[in-house]
Amino acid sequence: MTHKFDLIVIGAGPGGYVCAIKAAQLGLKVACVEKRETFGGTCLNVGCIPSKALLNSSHKYHDAKTSFHTHGIDVTKISLNLKQMMTHKETVVGDLTKGIAFLFKKNNVTAFKGTATIPSPGSVHLDSGEILTAPAIVIATGSVSATIPGITIDEKTILSSTGALSLTSVPSSMVIVGGGYIGLELGSVWSRLGAAVTVVEFAPGIVPAMDREIATELQRILEKQGLKFKLGHKVETVETTKEGLSLTLKSVATDQLETLSSETLLVSVGRHPCTDGLGLDALGIQRTSRGQIEVTDTFETTVPGIYAIGDVISGPMLAHKAEEEGVALAEHLAGKPIIINHDLIPGVIYTHPEVATVGSTEEALKESGTPYNIGKFSFKANARAHSMGDDSGFVKVLAHKTTDAVLGVHIIGGTAGNLIAEAVAVMTYGGSAEDIGRICHAHPTESEALKEAALMASGLKAIHA
Ligand code: FAD
Repeated sequence: MTHKFDLIVIGAGPGGYVCAIKAAQLGLKVACVEKRETFGGTCLNVGCIPSKALLNSSHKYHDAKTSFHTHGIDVTKISLNLKQMMTHKETVVGDLTKGIAFLFKKNNVTAFKGTATIPSPGSVHLDSGEILTAPAIVIATGSVSATIPGITIDEKTILSSTGALSLTSVPSSMVIVGGGYIGLELGSVWSRLGAAVTVVEFAPGIVPAMDREIATELQRILEKQGLKFKLGHKVETVETTKEGLSLTLKSVATDQLETLSSETLLVSVGRHPCTDGLGLDALGIQRTSRGQIEVTDTFETTVPGIYAIGDVISGPMLAHKAEEEGVALAEHLAGKPIIINHDLIPGVIYTHPEVATVGSTEEALKESGTPYNIGKFSFKANARAHSMGDDSGFVKVLAHKTTDAVLGVHIIGGTAGNLIAEAVAVMTYGGSAEDIGRICHAHPTESEALKEAALMASGLKAIHA
């Protein structure tokens, strides 16, 4: 059967479902096709949401074991009910994915379950046999976990992030290949629950693109929490033995080999754009050497009428980046201007403490020869953080030396992920460090640390430093 629409969106992740809803709100007749049983994409099903549920639950467990007593709460017997922790995670995922189905209905988006291919511009075929037509098609098919040649993921002992979100028992040990956002978050979860975690990272430092001072502090704190790091190493081979896994690691600098045994291995070396089976080559849709679909400033591919957004195109593979692109493209298709600032996409690592960052790192400013001032304020001197016993980390504000424009904000601290929103807002409107410093921040809140760091960067002195 053939159905006619104004817009067909392929993929119901944060890029696709947001684009579909926004376009429908703007008056377009929209279809959204999803091959998974539930909507929400990687983010809701096997990404942001289940990982944050487990991070939160494991943090509560770890807190109860290690720091409740300092608040005068004596708990005599604390034990882990992993099955219930997983049930909680699945309930959260179920609630939120059903929420997308509800929003589709509410906004008159017609949802189709099935795998889509694009045989020609203007037409989408589903494996169910249904045919959809529309003048505009959006590819929002996201990404899948990357693998390492020669290492086969079985989701039992050799895991991708998806398997690591659903283990039924706590492994005695876990080696994580890749010291990026996802590896560090899932490493934190299983370390808190009792696994001995070792992170193997090819680069000389964790989260290579991050401001080095913040990344170094994060590594120091995670080491204190029990995680071990093998930096400048790569995993060469993995063998399954009677005792578990035997890994051969190679030093990047010296080629020296060493072996490491572990019950489990998590392969967390990034994600690949998901374009297989869509028929892109036959259409002549160009991709980069990394497999991402090439698009113009208006998200149009090399074939007119076919657009792409989210993880499947270049830029940080983050849910909020995909969402912003979804809204911007929907507005463009409805005849409105595109408003998106790809330079100000914040990044957050939800370890404890969290790390949140936006704008230029200090290294990038040095490299580009941009003159800058730094303001740095420790959470130890922030009354709220100290009163909560959660005062590790600091805020670092980088401002232009002559104009005082905020160029970058990097935070490591308990609630850094929430604090960064203020920095993004100020930077979006071209604000200065003095602007942040002169805004009244409620007391006592951790946001005062951002104000104080901004005062320091602008040359006005902080009160509590
Ligand atoms: P996706 O969410 O991948 O959605 C694409 C959808 O398209 C999928 O549902 C897929 O089934 C469907 N699809 C693919 N091909 C077809 C086809 N041919 N026909 C029909 N449907 C198809 N990001 C953050 O911002 N914050 C976080 O805290 C965070 N945590 C993460 C934790 C983990 C463990 C992982 C793996 C990722 C995390 N991410 C996080 C990244 C985030 O999940 C992605 O950036 C985001 O989901 C990308 O959205 P998208 O819409 O581009 O693609």
